[in-house]
Amino acid sequence: MHEFSIVQSLLGLVEEHARENRAKGVIRVVVRVGVLSGVEPHLLEMAFDTFKEGTIARNAELVIEVERLRLRCEDCGRESEKEELNALCPHCGSLNTQVIGGEDMFLKSLELECD
Ligand SMILES: [Zn+2]
Repeated sequence: MHEFSIVQSLLGLVEEHARENRAKGVIRVVVRVGVLSGVEPHLLEMAFDTFKEGTIARNAELVIEVERLRLRCEDCGRESEKEELNALCPHCGSLNTQVIGGEDMFLKSLELECD
């Protein structure tokens, strides 16, 4: 499962930040997951709960924010956020659009437990 490797690198990143900040623990990990990233939020959560054991993030809560598809239209120049997964501009109906958001997954913020 592809979420397992994502979580392993996510936890690596979290541990690195925690160490740099001399944290005792991690309270919250916030990630943003794009609808087109191919990451399933519930699988990500499951993988996180499995792999956090034995790491500095073992008591951490994972918060997943889903980022919707964002498009920029080459015809009318407007940007939009969409519920549906298609490339149609909701303003002018053009298909001449570029995806500008919703494709990636990234670590958005971390709440660390410090002294
Ligand atoms: Zn348009």
